Amino acid sequence: MAAEVIAWIQQLRNRVADARAARRSIGFVPTMGALHAGHKRLLDVARAENDLVIVSIFVNPLQFDRRDDLERYPRTLDADVALCSASGVDIVFAPPAAEMYPSPLECVVEVGRVAEHLCGRFRPGHFRGVATVVMKLFQIAQPDRAYFGEKDAQQLAVIRRLVADLNVPVEIVGVPTVREADGLALSSRNQRLSPQERRVANVLYEGLKVAQALVASGERSAPRVAAAARQVVEGQPGVRLEYLEIVEPRDMQPIERIDGPAVAAGALWVGATRLIDNVICVPP
Ligand code: AMP
Repeated sequence: MAAEVIAWIQQLRNRVADARAARRSIGFVPTMGALHAGHKRLLDVARAENDLVIVSIFVNPLQFDRRDDLERYPRTLDADVALCSASGVDIVFAPPAAEMYPSPLECVVEVGRVAEHLCGRFRPGHFRGVATVVMKLFQIAQPDRAYFGEKDAQQLAVIRRLVADLNVPVEIVGVPTVREADGLALSSRNQRLSPQERRVANVLYEGLKVAQALVASGERSAPRVAAAARQVVEGQPGVRLEYLEIVEPRDMQPIERIDGPAVAAGALWVGATRLIDNVICVPP
């Protein structure tokens, strides 16, 4: 069945009120559209676990730290709605920006330590924008469960803190990263890569895999693991490594010694496109 496309908050609220009155569980997948097989995995998990599935498609200006990135962000609403319909999604919520932000916000969600490192360090205001829009969307969709990709590990950690710290009654479900055959994590931004850029874009994952293997073989020094992974990435001409760090999974704080599961996370510039990825490293 075709998904119902809703642009207005009040209209979505009416659907949500009906579902809640009928005691139907609501699963929610927030996205910025340009949907691919990574998003599809989130839709499938949400579909399997809930009575009503709502997907939001909203390119949130508040979370972009660079204007060109916002302007160049791919927008493919018709194809997105088709993918949602084929995945059994009930409602696609695609509001215009003026519906979400009728006037400049006076109140936002500030994010603390969990946003200090990794992307938070290089994208000022990004996680404030993410936490604020997700909080707004949670108030509108009132989901029982919400689905986020592990590909954006720091975002997932921020959202987990958001709902814990502000007592939001929603269960956060993390979904494993979907990758291309060569390991490149699926991303809407991959569409911007030239064929030549695409050929080298998986080098970040190659580096992260080296980190994972080193930790699995017993290396406990996070600086040594990070250095070995960076060396792999920096050996590839035509890319620029923004960061590659080893952090603990909960609050994304850098660690010295790897005594339990740790996240190796990096950001890579390939031409004018910035890609991120991470893996979990588990010591023996
Ligand atoms: P975005 O549209 O990029 O904001 O992503 C929407 C959701 O899809 C986020 O929770 C992402 O973490 C998730 N996502 C994006 N790419 C992937 C992927 N390759 N595998 C799994 N989840 C993903």
